[in-house]
Amino acid sequence: MVNIRYLCGFTGSAGIMVLTRSGAEFFTDGRYTQQARTEVAGVEKIVSKGDPFLQALDALKRGKTKSLGLDFAHLPVATFKQIEQQLGNRVKFKDGSGMIEGLRAIKDPDEISEIRSAVNLGAALFPTALKHIRPSVRESQIAAEIEHEARRLGAEGMSFDTIVAGGARSALPHGRATNQRLPKRGFVVLDFGVILTGYCSDMTRTVHIGKVDAGGRRMYDAVLLAQQAAIKKVGPGVAVSAVDGAARSVLDRAGVGQYFTHSTGHGVGLEIHEAPRIASGQNQKLQPGMVVTVEPGIYVPGVGGVRIEDMVLVTDRGREILTPTTKKLITI
Ligand code: ZN
Ligand code: ZN
Repeated sequence: MVNIRYLCGFTGSAGIMVLTRSGAEFFTDGRYTQQARTEVAGVEKIVSKGDPFLQALDALKRGKTKSLGLDFAHLPVATFKQIEQQLGNRVKFKDGSGMIEGLRAIKDPDEISEIRSAVNLGAALFPTALKHIRPSVRESQIAAEIEHEARRLGAEGMSFDTIVAGGARSALPHGRATNQRLPKRGFVVLDFGVILTGYCSDMTRTVHIGKVDAGGRRMYDAVLLAQQAAIKKVGPGVAVSAVDGAARSVLDRAGVGQYFTHSTGHGVGLEIHEAPRIASGQNQKLQPGMVVTVEPGIYVPGVGGVRIEDMVLVTDRGREILTPTTKKLITI
């Protein structure tokens, strides 16, 4: 449905789009007649009577289609079988998955401004989190404060389950907030994002409760240096693996490379994780208009973890960091 929203603006949950050389048709059901009329743009025909799937099949049967690309990544096998039964004798099917995702990876100026608004709203939640972080408060309480403030400020929702991971739990890269209490001393990883006009934000900051010791300081500084090195690498024409490699080599040099157990980042847009993936072994090149996260982290089992994440826009000449929040280590 995200691809359909991207193509024509429809935000409902039942819709099928048929794109042909001569134009686009959009099919939905009676619940969405009104909504489709106000939201859907750039489409020749809107049909909102009966089952949208059957209507779309009928239209295809009437047409002269010989070759049909289907979004296999989002098409249930049972639905495909039905299509095959109805059209298989004269239509060739092709895998069209990833086509729209490829277009979505490059944001136009309107999308970039929506993303900026989402990023700024997300960043505005960080001071709220800081106000409530102290020893023995439950992680879930911090998440609740973040999420309540997000709604108050106009967010449509959170872009993923808020991560608040304190003490030894900060060593879990995806430590969703639990009912655990924050420790007297140690790192707290906060990773959160909002959805605003459909677009997601994503940021991570790691703070420390109590005085940070030399080992903790070294961990934090290594991640910060890695994050800055990777951001510096971001630019048009740069392979995503080079951005990942920049973060990884800083952490390797600091002797903590083995604790960096995930990829460096991902695209963000209508979905929280979309193309491109910033990872080793990927040779896709960055292009102006892409919006990606840069989020290296290290996770030492039983001890704790540090992650720092910004959203970064690829520009014609380099990059712009969208996340406005300080990355100096905050101790509470
Ligand atoms: Zn994140
Ligand atoms: Zn992320």
